[in-house]
Formats: sequence, structure tokens, C-alpha cells
Amino acid sequence: MSEVILEGRGLTRRYTTDRGQTLTACREVDICLQYGRTLGIVGESGCGKSTLLRMMTQLEPPNEGRLIFRGQDITALKGEALRKNRCHIQMVFQDPTSAFFGRMKAGEAITEPLGNFQKLSAKQIREKQAELLRLVRLPEDFAHRYPHSMSGGQRQRLGIARALAVDPAVLVCDEATSALDVSVQEKIITLLVEIQRQRQLSMIFVCHDLALVQSLSHQVMVMYLGGAVESLPGNEVWDKASHPYSKALLSSIFAIDMDFDKPLPTLKGEVPSPVNLPQGCAFHTRCPQCRERCRNERPAMREIGPNHRVACHLFGQ
Ligand code: ADP
Ligand code: MG
Repeated sequence: MSEVILEGRGLTRRYTTDRGQTLTACREVDICLQYGRTLGIVGESGCGKSTLLRMMTQLEPPNEGRLIFRGQDITALKGEALRKNRCHIQMVFQDPTSAFFGRMKAGEAITEPLGNFQKLSAKQIREKQAELLRLVRLPEDFAHRYPHSMSGGQRQRLGIARALAVDPAVLVCDEATSALDVSVQEKIITLLVEIQRQRQLSMIFVCHDLALVQSLSHQVMVMYLGGAVESLPGNEVWDKASHPYSKALLSSIFAIDMDFDKPLPTLKGEVPSPVNLPQGCAFHTRCPQCRERCRNERPAMREIGPNHRVACHLFGQ
């Protein structure tokens, strides 16, 4: 029996735009991460993936909804309790260079987060630096080098080392390999999968590339315009993905020049604005199978198979 480590229920996040309008970046998202498993999240640019992760990692509170970690509601944690809880859920970003490393040497940069949680001697810190560098397969003498003198792949290894410094239970990767060349991307993914197995980490891996997400995720969640539209086991994505949007994502994988920042070539029309969400199903304006009901009634997520849920009127009752 697998158990849940981190769960979001009805997570909603709204922003006020520069023009004073309300933008709904995430709307009533249910998300469930199993202990020791990888959950992949996929969807086009702007669909709310990073917003969802900021709520899951408590960088931002949800406007509505709850966050449950190891069976405890942590939504309202504040101050010292929130700070302490942070060490359990850590994040790897797309390009860690500017955000974290600044003028620090690599060794100092990867062990810096430890200072927030425990007091270590200089010797213990050196040992920790060596251990973390070994973990991400970098030479130990890299501790004395500056991250800006390293390659993108090496820097991303440092980003992973830094996130793992405090020994988190959950590792959240937001487009962690998207800026890298394909061959480098593959090596980083292999490393993440190895570490995930070795440490029984629970991982959330967010990416706009469904083929990549599918390859390393036990469960895959597809997002569209701030909402989850489908969730299914990673190894069933090719055969069993059912939501018309998931299918459009799948067929666009075969378009060789796919640019994920542009609208999908396999779908007509543009993604509607999150300032003005469509009535009914959020996807109905682009759905090739849209019916009357889809324009009026928002479909809820429904179970259509083991660990397989879809929000679409074409399925279930
Ligand atoms: P993704 O990571 O899937 O590309 P994001 O979560 O970054 O999507 O963004 C979802 C939507 O929320 C986008 O329309 C984006 O412009 C908007 N958004 C994100 N952060 C903010 C913010 N701080 N203020 C206003 N709008 C935001
Ligand atoms: Mg993002």
C-alpha cells in the first residue's frame, strides 16, 4: 500500500494584475503525492504549474484550499513552525545561477541552506560539501570553484545538491532541465531518478514536455488554464490518456519543431485569458468534441479507471 506524503485539496490562487483585474492562476486543484514516488505535472506555458508549486512549497499561501503534509494540515503554519517545515519540502529551479549562487563558491552555495536549520562546525560543513558533490556526481574539488565558471549541466547539479542539503522528504523540480541541451537534460534526469530511488524521495517534476514527464513519473497530472484535467499512471499515458487536451498534447509530441511556448499546432484557437475564464469547461473553446453541456457546466474530476481521473463530460456520468 502506498501512502500519501503531500496533498493539496482545492488549491486556488488569484493575483491582481497591473490593471487591477483578478487573474485566476490555479483553480480548485486537487493534487496528491505518494511517498517515494514521482508525480509529473505537464501543461503549456502559463497554465499555472509554477503557481501550484509555490503553494505546495509554501512560498505562497493559497487563497482557498488546504495543504496536508504527512497527515497534518500545514496550510496555516506561520513563523517558526513554517520555517522549520520548509526543510521537508525543497525546490530545484530552472536556472539556479542568478537566484542563489551570486558570488559564492560552489561548496558554500550548496551548504548555505543548512545554516537555517542546524549549527555545524567548519569540518562538518566541508564533509557535507564533499558528500553533496559526490551525490550529484561532481568532483569534490568543485567546492572551491565558482558556479559561473561551470557549464549549465554542472550548475544544475549544484542546484540539486543545494536542494538536498537539508535532506528533504519532498523534492520539487520546476522545469529543472528545460533550459539544458537534450543530451545534458538526459543526464540530469538520470541523476534525479537515481537519487529519488536511492533516498526514497518523493518528487514532483514539472515540465511542459509530456514525453519527458511521462518517462520518469509514476503518476502524471495534466493541467490546462489553471485546472487539473487528467491524472493517470505514467506508463498508461500513451495508451490511455483520454481528455481531449491530453490527446492534443500527445499528438503534438510528434511535431518535430514543437515550440512549447507557442499554442499547440494540433489545436485550433488560443488559450483563453486566466483573467476571463470561460464558463463551463475551461477547455471548451478549443475542444474538437465540445457539446452544449461543456459550454455551461464545469466538469469535475471523475474516476474512470485505477488511479485514472478525468475532468470531461465525455466520460462517466
Ligand atoms: P506556468 O508555470 O505553467 O508557465 P505560472 O504559474 O507561472 O504558469 O502562471 C500562471 C498564470 O498566472 C499566468 O497567466 C501568469 O501570467 C500568472 N501569474 C503568475 N504569477 C503571477 C503574479 N505574481 N502576478 C500576476 N500574475 C501572475
Ligand atoms: Mg513555470
